[in-house]
Amino acid sequence: MQSFNLRSILRPHILSLTPYSSARDEYTGTIGVFLDANENPYGSVVASVVRHSERSDDSDYNRYPDPHQWAIKERLAPIKGVRKSQIFLGNGSDEPIDLLVRATCVPGQDTILIMPPTYGMYEVSAAINDVPIIKVPLMSDFQVDTSAVLAAITDKTKLIWLCSPNNPSGNLLQRDAIRSILEAADHSLVIVDEAYIDFADTSSWTTELDTYPNLVVLQTFSKAWGLAALRLGMCFASEELIQVLNKIKPPYNISAPTQQLALKALAHEAGKNEMVAQILEQRRQLVEKLRSLPAVRAIHPSDANFLLVQFDKAKDVFEHLIEQQVIVRDRSKVILCDDCLRISVGTSAENERLLNVLQNMSSVPVTGELPLATGEAASKPELVSNA
Ligand SMILES: *Cc1c(COP(=O)(O)O)cnc(C)c1O
Repeated sequence: MQSFNLRSILRPHILSLTPYSSARDEYTGTIGVFLDANENPYGSVVASVVRHSERSDDSDYNRYPDPHQWAIKERLAPIKGVRKSQIFLGNGSDEPIDLLVRATCVPGQDTILIMPPTYGMYEVSAAINDVPIIKVPLMSDFQVDTSAVLAAITDKTKLIWLCSPNNPSGNLLQRDAIRSILEAADHSLVIVDEAYIDFADTSSWTTELDTYPNLVVLQTFSKAWGLAALRLGMCFASEELIQVLNKIKPPYNISAPTQQLALKALAHEAGKNEMVAQILEQRRQLVEKLRSLPAVRAIHPSDANFLLVQFDKAKDVFEHLIEQQVIVRDRSKVILCDDCLRISVGTSAENERLLNVLQNMSSVPVTGELPLATGEAASKPELVSNA
């Protein structure tokens, strides 16, 4: 990776950009009379209406938050085995996804490479920025077609998106494939989105950050940590790239309540691990029970907190579930996902509900004359749902 030069892949105007300098950038002390940021000196409306007993010590929201979230990074760095300077925090993973496109891709000219079926935001962020998308589909086992990817990379390819464990298929991508891409793509950033890494039995690519200057790893508080509502995404990369992201982010991109709650969460990592263990046990049970349902054709192996399940007639199953107020994700129109629904692993009670509804669909004739109890029946073309 000697030849990788971040400066050469950044958009020229980003290199020379003078970032906004906030009041909290220019003076970083915490003690003093703060008359520098036009804040309300009396406190927040929230502080005066929320009863004192409901308030935490840190709920005076009249002050702007730390633009660099150092308290979180201080706790996060040892947990992730990285340096604080290798961490960027964003408003969800959405923010680093967008910033990476904007930092590197000249609209209408540079390209990103994705491997469908995968997470939709890579494509959307590129499209918003008018950046063309190169698609190299995964193979039928949802693994990377390494030689096709290497052949598709051009000198315009600035970002290569890998999602491991992949959404919607659920599997980890093979390390050798990712390594080959990291080693060959010395004029691109290679992003490994590890939103589901806590559910996988493997180490994170963050351990390789010092080996590969072109490696970017994304993680999130939205899944295993149970904090989707906070909107807090993590991006790990070289210090040089993190500095660029800091330069182009909105100055106060992480709110004070989010920072406070994230700190509380990080102090209780064991709580996250316990929930992950429960979810993995629920996943195991769900796989076992889904397997016995006649309408289920295949359950793709999952390293995540969801299952990609192929049904005899996904559309009918999906609609039947909706009627019974069980909501899953219809992925049946997605490449390599024919007749597949993506089902999040729920609580024991939620999974039981799902299984009951599926069971009833299989055993009760929907129209009164077309029993669905066997694969043979389900394959009849005239199948109609109650809708
Ligand atoms: C859920 C998910 C995320 C998380 O996005 P946030 O914006 O952090 O909530 C990121 N990547 C993938 C592949 C996901 O499925």
